[in-house]
Order: sequence, then C-alpha cells, then structure tokens
Amino acid sequence: MAKTLTEPLAPGAVIGILGGGQLGRMAALAAARLGYRCHVYCPEPDAPAAQVTPLFTCAAYEDEEALAGFAEAVDLVTFEFENIPLGAATFLAPRVAQRPGPEVLRICQNRLREKDFCQSVKVPTTRYAEVNTPDGLARVVNDIGRPCVLKTAELGYDGKGQASIGPETDLDNAWRLMAGDRAEAPGIVEAFVDFTLEISVIVARGAGGGCQSYPVVENQHRMHILDQTIVPARVADKAAERAEAIARHLAEEIGLVGLLAIEMFVTAEDEVLVNELAPRPHNSGHWTLDACVTSQFEQFVRAIAGLPLGSTERHCDAVMKNLLGEDAGRWHEILSDPAAKLHLYGKTEARPGRKMGHVTKLVPRD
Ligand code: AMP
Repeated sequence: MAKTLTEPLAPGAVIGILGGGQLGRMAALAAARLGYRCHVYCPEPDAPAAQVTPLFTCAAYEDEEALAGFAEAVDLVTFEFENIPLGAATFLAPRVAQRPGPEVLRICQNRLREKDFCQSVKVPTTRYAEVNTPDGLARVVNDIGRPCVLKTAELGYDGKGQASIGPETDLDNAWRLMAGDRAEAPGIVEAFVDFTLEISVIVARGAGGGCQSYPVVENQHRMHILDQTIVPARVADKAAERAEAIARHLAEEIGLVGLLAIEMFVTAEDEVLVNELAPRPHNSGHWTLDACVTSQFEQFVRAIAGLPLGSTERHCDAVMKNLLGEDAGRWHEILSDPAAKLHLYGKTEARPGRKMGHVTKLVPRD
C-alpha cells in the first residue's frame, strides 16, 4: 500500500528530493523560504542541490538500505527529474508519501508510454510507433514514412539518443546513433513535425485537485538543447488557449499532485501537438523566478506540500537564456546589466553543452 499525506505539510517538515541537479537546487531554495528543510538523495557528491540543503544522502538509487534510511528521515518524497530508476520510487512508496506518485514517473520516463497516455485521453501527438530492433526500424520507417525521428524511449534528454531520418539516411547508422552497438533497445519512431514554433506550458495541480498554469512560452533550441525561452510565446490566441487546455487536461487525467511541463509543437495551421511531458519544474519555467508572483519552484513545493497554490501572474515579460558550458564564464558582464537576473548552479566543470546557469532578461510589458 502506498503511503499518503492527509494534511498539509507543516513548516519544519523535511522534503526528500530524489535527484541532485539544478532543478532540485532551486526547488530546495524555494522550500527553505516556506520553512521546510530538504534532504537530497543522489549518487553524485557535491551535487548542485546538495550544496544548498542541510541533509544529503549520497548513494546509488539501487541501494535499498540507504533508501530505507532516507524514507525514515523525510516526511514526503518527490523527484527533480524523471530518469530516477522506477525501482527506487516503488521501493519508497509503501514507506513514505510520494508526490507525484510512482505511476506518473512510470508514464513520463518512457516516450512510448507518454504518447500512449496522451492518445488514451484524446490529446493529439504526431504519429508514432514502437521499435526495438534494426529490422523493426526498417518496417516502422516504411510505415510512418520519411522524414521521421528515431528516439530512445527511455533515458533520453536534450536530444541524446536521437536520430533524424531523411530521404537518404542509412537506417543502420540511425539505429547506432540511438542504441550504440545494442541489437535490441526500446525506441520510438515519430513522424517529423514541420512546426512553426515550439512552446510549453507548466501547470501545477494541488492535493485538492485545483490547477494553476503559467502563460504559454516559446522555446528555441540549439543543438537539441533549450537555448532561449521567450515570454509570452508569439502564438495565435487560439493555439495558446488550446495548449493551456491540454495542459490542464493532462494534469487531471494523470492524477498529478505537483508540476507538469508539457512541450508542444505548433504547426502552420495552428494545430498543437504534444511532444514530451516532464512531471517536475522545467527549464522553460526558470523565468518565473524573477518575473512571476509565484515561481514554478515555489508552486511545485506548494503543490506537493498540500498548500494553497500561488498566483501565476507575471510582473513583466521575459527572455530566459541558458548558460551552457563556457557561457557561464560571462557572469561578470551579465551582472553589469541591470535588467538581467543571473542564476548559477554551482557546477565546477564547464563541459560543452552542460547547463551551468541561466540568465533572465526582464522586459517591461507594453
Ligand atoms: P525532445 O528530446 O523530444 O524534446 O526533442 C528535442 C528537439 O528535437 C525538439 O525540441 C525538437 O526541436 C526536435 N524534435 C523532436 N521530435 C520531433 C519531431 N517529431 N518532429 C520534428 N522535430 C522534432
């Protein structure tokens, strides 16, 4: 039997966070403002989240003794990214309340299950099919047609484990890009979407079932990694309304308590197609830290702790830019711009493409 919380979490309680990245760090800082303490659990020493929390278990996600100790030490468990092994969440479920629950994690950590879920609740996605072997890839590509995109169904992020398949692409090469030298691997082939814009919506759903969403934002990627988020998205009202309605519908149907980010494509006909779900704070919501009454991180904490949700109203428009790798070395120059708000994640090694921080430029609303 999964443990549940019946009362709001009182200040002073301990929130356990699986995962130690920047999302956990910014969530822990928001939790501290509301009087909570956070306990981070992750295998990496000196993790960005652990740098700002008083309590830290540095152990593998498979270490049941450490997980049992963690469950004893916290009042509620959440996760800051969805690639946490499902086994850790199911091990914790009977021991300590978990929000969102393991079922949300199970759906959102696999692209096929995610798209099947969308279809099951009548939310449109691009056409897709499951693929597990190179032979299967040839059949599926034949069926879906080119151009299409091959993606790993699990553990993919920021374009890792993906291959675009154009008219001339050799399928063996595409398979190797996704699966390396494995002869079998869980994959998905998606029809290529000729989108005009990529957008996302972040919605919070509280323990009592009420939803609050943030405005629709526009996401621009470089090398498959989010480069900039522009607020608000330059999108037709009809598409924006549709995107918000989809976000709320998905949050309700999945039984969310927490935050859900939905990445979507907008086509030339203003059709909105869901690409990906993330049941946690999202990179495209970082601007809310500086431009909204309630940031996505505070909203996340409010939702999982059973508190009333906050206002998602924004004070101003914004452009958020990720600082990848060496970009973060510009910190001094960024700080000299009075309209720029700098956030660094405490990572020491500036590997190319690594998210080291972000900067939000505040733009007065007209
Ligand atoms: P993802 O990891 O699914 O978020 O994909 C990374 C990026 O690849 C997206 O933000 C899009 O720019 C692009 N992409 C992913 N799937 C498709 C698709 N089916 N059609 C066109 N572009 C895609």
